[in-house]
Amino acid sequence: MAKAPHLCFDKVLPWNLAKPHRMRVTGSGRVSAISPVGKQWVNGSTLRIRFLGGSAADHKLVKKHAPKWTNHANLEFEFTDDPNAEVRISFDSSDGAWSYVGLDNKNIPIHAATMNLGWVDKGVILHEFGHMIALGHEHQNPDGGIVWNEQEVIRALAGPPNFWSEEQTRHNVLRKYAANHVHGTNFDADSVMLYEFPGNWTQNLPGGTKGNDDLSVTDTAFVASAKMYPGQSGTGVTTVELPVFEAMSSSIANAGEEDLFSFTVAKTGTFVVETSGGTDLYLSLFGPNSSSDLIAEDDDGGHGRNSRVEQVLSPGTYFARVRHFDPNATGAYEIQVVSRN
Ligand SMILES: [Zn+2]
Repeated sequence: MAKAPHLCFDKVLPWNLAKPHRMRVTGSGRVSAISPVGKQWVNGSTLRIRFLGGSAADHKLVKKHAPKWTNHANLEFEFTDDPNAEVRISFDSSDGAWSYVGLDNKNIPIHAATMNLGWVDKGVILHEFGHMIALGHEHQNPDGGIVWNEQEVIRALAGPPNFWSEEQTRHNVLRKYAANHVHGTNFDADSVMLYEFPGNWTQNLPGGTKGNDDLSVTDTAFVASAKMYPGQSGTGVTTVELPVFEAMSSSIANAGEEDLFSFTVAKTGTFVVETSGGTDLYLSLFGPNSSSDLIAEDDDGGHGRNSRVEQVLSPGTYFARVRHFDPNATGAYEIQVVSRN
């Protein structure tokens, strides 16, 4: 009998589950959900990582393997004791392995772990750091891949070591992601974000899947692509200064691209950041003086499919990130910040 796989479960914040998901029919007639949530960190971010417990050997292994991601993604990992670290790793062997996904890490109370490594090896470190930089599970890729033998999966995971209810198994394994939560690639059997599954759990992969303990060629290409964290090759996002009250023309020229604008608030007051034009955009506002502290995000709060954020802001520098709602689409737009004071 196949050894029961170690399974990682996603931490999904309750308010994301509550958000409405828009449905669309793809060219093939298949219906897939589109989630309005952009989880990526701002491209070029330095993420501070703090250990909560664990042995010196555990820390050494994490520091050795995690940077394999930043060899390709335009991010930096800084291991630190800073209490304000974005990422906080516990080593509780009774709590499995899990991580919050991308910007969701910022919504966790500062004393709580954002990642747990219940066992420590190269594969699990790379996998959970993959979630941390906003990657999803390859087995939940909506673009092809595994056709589950659902009843067998539910039966197997109801037993040791997982003891999952049908609902937990549906959430952690059988559910396919919304299209913009996942690799913009076809199913990748070599991805470190894929787990080992026995063949009788599937209807279409008699040999099952293999667990991978290293980044695949597709993993490394994807995190370096325009959809994730480009720029290790010198083509990263540059921040455009956006004076308050001055509308600026811009465009999502390449699929998946992000545009980053900064503006300065001199005096506390109410500010509106808004896009205009015919492009369906997703806006995230960060600050003050930080491109990882998410203040607000919006999909369709403006005219038509435009986004709009209205916030009281204290003095400092703020960052507005604009992405297309559809990671495969492009389009022109205008953006403006106005003060209501
Ligand atoms: Zn996982």
